[in-house]
Parts: sequence; C-alpha cells; structure tokens
Amino acid sequence: MKLILLGAPGAGKGTVAKLLTKMDGSVQISTGDILRGAVAAGSELGKKAEAAMKAGDLVSDDLIMGIMSERLKEDDCKSGYLLDGFPRTIPQAEALKVMLTDMGEELDAVVDIAVPRDVILDRLTTRRTCSDCGEIYNVKSNPPSVEGKCDKCGGPVVQRDDETEEAISNRLDVYNEKTAPVAGFYEKEGMLLTVEATSSDAVIEAIKAKLGQ
Ligand code: ADP
Ligand code: ZN
Repeated sequence: MKLILLGAPGAGKGTVAKLLTKMDGSVQISTGDILRGAVAAGSELGKKAEAAMKAGDLVSDDLIMGIMSERLKEDDCKSGYLLDGFPRTIPQAEALKVMLTDMGEELDAVVDIAVPRDVILDRLTTRRTCSDCGEIYNVKSNPPSVEGKCDKCGGPVVQRDDETEEAISNRLDVYNEKTAPVAGFYEKEGMLLTVEATSSDAVIEAIKAKLGQ
C-alpha cells in the first residue's frame, strides 16, 4: 500500500507505520528518522537540519524535497510505502503531487490520525526512543524490559532532544500552523481518511476497512 500518515507529533504515526509494514511489506519512510540519522552521522544534511530540529522547528522544504525525491526512487519502494512525517507543509504536499505524477504513481489514501491535545502532551513527555533502531517506548505504558535498553536491538533508549517541554510546545504550535492545513489539502483531493482513535489497533482497523483488506 501507498499511504501518507498525518497527525500531530505523538499521534502515533510511527507506531501505526511499523504495524502496517508487517502487513504487506511496505516500507516506513520517516523524514524524522532520516534526519536524526543524518545528525548522528554528522553529515552535511545533518548539519543543516540540526538546529531547526532541536528547537522543534521545521527543516526547510527544499532540504526535505531533496531527501524524498531520492528516497522514493529506491527499490524497496516498489512494494509500497508509508510516509510518516511527510508532507508537513502545503508546499511539500504540492511538490509531492508533482513528483508522484511524474513517477506515474498514485497513493491509496491519506490517513489523518486525530488525537486530543492532552493525550498528545502526555504521550510526548513520556515517550522514549531507541537511538539505534528508532523503536518507540513509553515510560508509563510500554517501557523496555530493561530500563534504558532497547528490547529489539539493545541500543540506548533515551528521551529525544526535541522532547523537552519547550520544544514540544513549539512543535505543537508549528504543527497547528503549518501541518494541520495539509489535511485540508488532501480533503480537497478526495483522499483523506480521518481516524479519531487513541489506540494504534483501531487506526489499523480503520485503514484496513478503507482499503478493503
Ligand atoms: P514528530 O514526532 O514530531 O512527528 P519527527 O520524527 O517526524 O517528529 O520529526 C522530528 C523533526 O524533524 C521535526 O520536528 C522537524 O524539525 C524535522 N522534520 C521531520 N520531517 C519533516 C518535514 N517533512 N518537513 C520539515 N521538517 C521535518
Ligand atoms: Zn533499538
């Protein structure tokens, strides 16, 4: 399947994407993971993205479109992809539309995961992430079996730099201003599926029903 997953930070896009990859072999493409990898590797891309990410601001549309135009051409995309954290602005959505048309590809749906703000805030402050493989944990509801150590790969499970209270609040503001309108863009395109659910399983069920699987 080819899907875009929309939703505020902490809505569960990454978790849902990981569950969906197990269904049909589609790949999860997370611009946030790609950027964090670049920052960790100290690459040119990482250097350009680091400051904006740490503050919870968006990285420039040009940088993101450069990443995605390469990424979507890779072989593993042939079995489908779940775009997680992209597009995040109207210009990115417009550029993606042109790119897909050029590639002769069509998305199955755009899924907007709608979660109340208080749930989001609680989740983001308690979220922990494996710095090696990106696996997501929660100190309250889903801690790793050994504290600070990833169950999957043994890597360090930490709080992200942009998960301080200040950066979180900025990320939510940026989301409301720049990213929330992207749902409207896809609604006009007739592609939007809004799912109001706080459990990832319920989101998966709604997506399956929509795709007739
Ligand atoms: P979130 O949990 O907020 O969805 P992500 O892991 O998707 O976090 O992204 C982390 C950071 O990476 C964002 O706050 C932003 O700085 C940058 N980023 C990721 N994707 C994009 C994008 N499509 N456009 C601009 N910046 C992005
Ligand atoms: Zn890990």
